[in-house]
Amino acid sequence: MQTYGTINCVAKDLQGNISGVTTTSGLSYKIPGRVGDSSIIGAGLYIDNEIGGAGSTGRGEANLTNCSSVMVVEYMGQGKSPEESCLMACKRIVEHTIMKRLQKDDGKPNFNVTFYAINKRGEYGSASIWSGGKFVIHDGTTNSKLDCAFLYKR
Ligand code: ASP
Repeated sequence: MQTYGTINCVAKDLQGNISGVTTTSGLSYKIPGRVGDSSIIGAGLYIDNEIGGAGSTGRGEANLTNCSSVMVVEYMGQGKSPEESCLMACKRIVEHTIMKRLQKDDGKPNFNVTFYAINKRGEYGSASIWSGGKFVIHDGTTNSKLDCAFLYKR
């Protein structure tokens, strides 16, 4: 059984500043000494206070080799919405997943990754490679639990 408990939180404060954190126990049954993506700026978390912030949960190696969170922020900087940017980072991982041991029979990744992002305007979004993900948003008044966008339906 896989156990997990990673949380990414990105926020915009009342002054318009962006901040974020990714906290984790790491992947279950990891090799001693493994460093996941959560603690690596640019992989599991990235903030550019002019553009926005992004973070991730899921298979950290995919985010480390794809510089995923920094890519999400860069896509937002190019004008893409937070959700679109998260989906683009998922696509980038899929395109770069060429090792057979990381693929299902149809060639799609046999793992999942989810991104969460907010931009300077306070727009937000989330996306996973595989369907079924949820994320929570607080707009200053209310909490909402929303479905993550996704590339493939499970
Ligand atoms: N991203 C974490 C890691 O690879 C795992 C997780 O999200 O649960 O260490």
